[in-house]
Parts: sequence; structure tokens; C-alpha cells
Amino acid sequence: MPALFGSLLEKLEDFIARDEELAKEDEHVERIASSLLSGSLSMALCYIQRVFRSGHLHPQPRILCLQGSPDGPEQYVAVMNSIFSAQRLMVPIDSCYIGTQNSAFLQQASYITGGVHHAPKQLDGLFQFLTTIFATDLHTRSFIQLPKPVGVDFRASCFCHKKTIDMGYVCSVCLSIFCEHHKKCSTCGSVFGQSKLDGANASSSVNDRKRKAPDS
Ligand SMILES: [Zn+2]
Ligand SMILES: [Zn+2]
Repeated sequence: MPALFGSLLEKLEDFIARDEELAKEDEHVERIASSLLSGSLSMALCYIQRVFRSGHLHPQPRILCLQGSPDGPEQYVAVMNSIFSAQRLMVPIDSCYIGTQNSAFLQQASYITGGVHHAPKQLDGLFQFLTTIFATDLHTRSFIQLPKPVGVDFRASCFCHKKTIDMGYVCSVCLSIFCEHHKKCSTCGSVFGQSKLDGANASSSVNDRKRKAPDS
């Protein structure tokens, strides 16, 4: 086992060194540095799927995301797709956010898949958090007091500008989210009602929603 940990640590150090180099190269490019969460989740899910399909192993996999950079709202759709795939596979996504802000993606990932989310206030005891919270297997978790989420940030990103929004418009056909009113859905091409939201239109859309609610 120590050999395994040794190689894991070595790879992690390698990864951090390469990441630093890449960050330096990109310094002149003006963009928000966000971690490629969607890519890493997809890779982890592919790996898990491969192990499942190989047949002779019956693991109880779970994913741990350790993130220190802000969310990239442009990855919203890809991240949500990965989260729903993990939910279907019954793979909990545990997440640890290191930093001053918190990550809405990680909070939602853990909430939807039944994993644990934790954002340690201070990093002095990070190793302790990692071993006591995230290293415990699914069976043991029912016996210990894990940090309860105080609230989940359910905000979504609009499909038009990839901005995180509190309120917006949702296409009733494909559930795409937009920050402003559009005549046509850019995802599925559905044509929406008149752009002028007069009283009659607004009330009919509310009625529609009320009518549809019991079905879902
Ligand atoms: Zn938008
Ligand atoms: Zn649509």
C-alpha cells in the first residue's frame, strides 16, 4: 500500500507542477481561470464504467472533487450532464472546496448524487478533513456525523451568455435557460409567444405552469 500512496503523491505533485506551468503560459490571455470540472468528471465516470463492464470487480465507486478555483459557468451544461450520469450510475460525488468563495457546481453535484460537500474554513486541518470525511466508505457514513450542507446554491447558467443567473426564462420544450426573453429557443428551435409580456400572456403562462405542475 505505501508504494501506491507514494506513486499517487508523485503523480499529484507532477500534476500540480504541470498545472502551474500551463497557468504561466496562459497569463497573457485574459480569461477567468476555472478548473476543467466537466472533463475530469467525464473521465472519472468513463473509468468507473469501464471497471463495471469488465465484470469481475464489484466496487462501490465514488468520486472526490477537490477544487480551488472558481466555477466556469461556460461548463454548466457539461457539468450537469456529468452529475446526472453519476446519479444514474449511483456514484456519489464528494466535493471539497478550498478557497474563499464556494462552488455552486460542487454543491449541486454532491446534493444530487448523495455525496458529501465540505468547504473547510481553514486549511490547517485539511488532511484530517480528507481522511475523516471523504475517506470513509459508504457503509461507515451511516454511523458518523458528517457535515450537513447549510444550503445549496442552485443557481444555473444561462445558455446564451454562460452567465450565472438567479432568475431567467426556461424553454418549456427543452428546459434551456436564458437570461433574457428570446423569440426562439436557440437549443431546440421552439418559437415562443409574443415578446410583449402583457397581462393576458403573463397570466396564461402562470396558468399553464399551474396546470402542468400535478403531472410532474
Ligand atoms: Zn444569457
Ligand atoms: Zn428549447
